[in-house]
Amino acid sequence: MQTIDQFNFAGKKAFVRVDFNVPLDENQNITDDTRIRAAMPTLKKIIADGGMLIIGSHMGRPKKNPDPKYSLKAILAHVQECLGAPVAFAEDCQNADAQVAALKPGEALLLENLRFYAEEEGKPRGLAEDATDEEKAAAKKAVKESQKAFTKKLASYADCYVNDAFGTAHRAHASTALIAEYFDAENKMFGYLMNKEVTAVETVMSNTVRPFTAIMGGSKVSTKIDIIENMLGKVDNLILMGGMTYTFSKARGGQIGVSICENDKLDLALSIIEKAKANGVKLYLATDAVVADKFSNDANRQIVSVSEIPDGWEGMDIGTETRKAFAEVIKESKTILWNGPAGVFEFDNFAEGSRAVAEAIVEATANGAFSLVGGGDSVACVNKFGLADKVSYVSTGGGALLEAIEGKVLPGIKAIQG
Ligand code: AMP
Repeated sequence: MQTIDQFNFAGKKAFVRVDFNVPLDENQNITDDTRIRAAMPTLKKIIADGGMLIIGSHMGRPKKNPDPKYSLKAILAHVQECLGAPVAFAEDCQNADAQVAALKPGEALLLENLRFYAEEEGKPRGLAEDATDEEKAAAKKAVKESQKAFTKKLASYADCYVNDAFGTAHRAHASTALIAEYFDAENKMFGYLMNKEVTAVETVMSNTVRPFTAIMGGSKVSTKIDIIENMLGKVDNLILMGGMTYTFSKARGGQIGVSICENDKLDLALSIIEKAKANGVKLYLATDAVVADKFSNDANRQIVSVSEIPDGWEGMDIGTETRKAFAEVIKESKTILWNGPAGVFEFDNFAEGSRAVAEAIVEATANGAFSLVGGGDSVACVNKFGLADKVSYVSTGGGALLEAIEGKVLPGIKAIQG
């Protein structure tokens, strides 16, 4: 497989798919430029080699073309400042030939939001609400057909293709996956950010050093079931915490007060317990909980058994006994995957369980374990506790990471790796 480090971009035009989908305020000012900065190592390497950049990204979910609210023009000046090289702007990503031809080594061209064309995602737009199934199928077929020409056009701008957008790697879109077909293996590669993400996922999922512990939290079993199922075939230890604790507790006959619970998932919870046993996976569930008399940071609190929660009280965090038990398992682990908080960590009074989990992961990491934190709220957790730089890797790709740990093949990765 080609790598960005080995590739010399001198005199070459590179189409780089980045994720510049940054949050903007109502005046179109960038409120968090993390994603722009994250792509800079790749973009700067290409410029430093004497290459020419054609930068493609999406922004938001525009429903029409063009939609000024989602224009990448808003970030042009900042991209230029971060890159330290001239960056021109192509108002129409499908009509940029002249601007591409005018590029000189060390220069860049930022294409307007690729999603201003329905062909980027390959999904029909503007269908009438009462469209029949036949009309929907015809519209889908039409956009899939025109997607080929759209993709070919993007590919025609460049000599090589670099994908540095892990956040969209789970989408088989024109610029994230389909475009790779137009470049031979020598001329397509991951960017640095993508490479770090892919390597981190492979370290956990394929090149696993044991014991391997997956820690799953969050609010519901139902949204995590695909990950849990996949983990049951891979891990030595599975820690399940957060809101799903109470579905398990109720399934086992516990009294859970008014804790969050999916009553239609009680059988599923029992089957997870059975499957863990059958697979030789040690399953760890909370034994005690910090409960509250209302869903609020200033609620009254007490610690009780997860199976004896008083009426009118709800489980908001893991208790002290559970924190200790989980921390012991985590500290013995050599590979750790964390997705989802231990409790309602947004409230400081119910964040201590998540903090204890994060601190145990940090300690295991300091002792040589590889730890991957990702998928939404656990990232917010490590950031809240100021521990993000003390774990091995914090993933930037929410949905993409979740699909990777569900065991799915990501189109954006497959397109490069083959
Ligand atoms: P998820 O998006 O499924 O990973 O869930 C994250 C959310 O789960 C966070 O906003 C937490 O506040 C919430 N959560 C965690 N534990 C509980 C709990 N015991 N009760 C209610 N919500 C919870």
